[in-house]
Amino acid sequence: MSSIPKVMLAARYHLGGEIKIEELPTPSCPPGGLLIKTIASGLCSGELMTWYMDRKAEKAPHVLGHEVCGTVVKSENEAFPVGSLVAPHHHAPCLNCEYCRRGAYVHCTLWKSTRLDPGGMAEYFAVSTENLNDCHIVDNLLPEDAALMEPIACVAKQLRKLNYQPGEPAAVIGLGVMGLLHALMMPGCVAFETNPTRREWAIRQGVDAREPDSSQKFSCVILCPGTKPALDFALEIADFESRIGLFSPLPPEPVALNFESLYMRDISLINSYSCGPKDTQTALEWIKEGRISANHVVTSKIELSELPQAYQDMKSGRILKPMVIFP
Ligand SMILES: [Zn+2]
Ligand SMILES: [Zn+2]
Repeated sequence: MSSIPKVMLAARYHLGGEIKIEELPTPSCPPGGLLIKTIASGLCSGELMTWYMDRKAEKAPHVLGHEVCGTVVKSENEAFPVGSLVAPHHHAPCLNCEYCRRGAYVHCTLWKSTRLDPGGMAEYFAVSTENLNDCHIVDNLLPEDAALMEPIACVAKQLRKLNYQPGEPAAVIGLGVMGLLHALMMPGCVAFETNPTRREWAIRQGVDAREPDSSQKFSCVILCPGTKPALDFALEIADFESRIGLFSPLPPEPVALNFESLYMRDISLINSYSCGPKDTQTALEWIKEGRISANHVVTSKIELSELPQAYQDMKSGRILKPMVIFP
């Protein structure tokens, strides 16, 4: 293994949505944890939500990236030997508290406080011993597929919370990356998208992608865009006694909803925020089974230096999803 440099390059988010490639000190291996050399790091659609990202960036510019796969270059945990390929979740729960005991991992205090240091869009990152509670050896997978563990796990959690039944009348609203990942895991579903480029891409991946049309009703609806018009469309296509999965947050302002109609139609709105260890496990099984891969959703494999442009291109919908491949 070649020696580890003292400084490295990383992509940082600055207030207002500007991405800069900057030199940062290479993190050291934390006690009981790992130092990873990054191989593949996907840009997450959540990182494009300016209101959400600016709230974090108000404190300090932060390194992007949490959909990662890399090689262990230093290890203080014998379960993760040097040289192994790993995919860590950026947050990991304690597995002991009340929330963890009932599977609500993302509400565990430890889950909220853990993170990869400094983030996945960096040449190296450190994984703390706590983060190893949701870190997986993926030697048998391609790094670019394993880097999708986290977004696919978010889909697994949403489908689990909705009690989605394969074959039921199901719809997905929005064919950005997350909508597409849902649609691929829901064979036979209908997916609605206004952007023709996204529709064409999804059709090539075998998805029944259509322009929005409310003539058909569905018992399970996945709402990906966090906007009021998209929510209204979801309510239009939701059948009696149906479930709508709210995959993304709406901006933090109150939204008017007709609760009487929701009640009389027996419609459930089910939120799904991020994912925990149960879901990362499911995601890795789906990847292993070949049900889903980077080829389905990654439209540009780029170098780190190309990320500032790719960020803007993904935000404007010109590309679906970039993934940085490190040399
Ligand atoms: Zn993500
Ligand atoms: Zn816990």
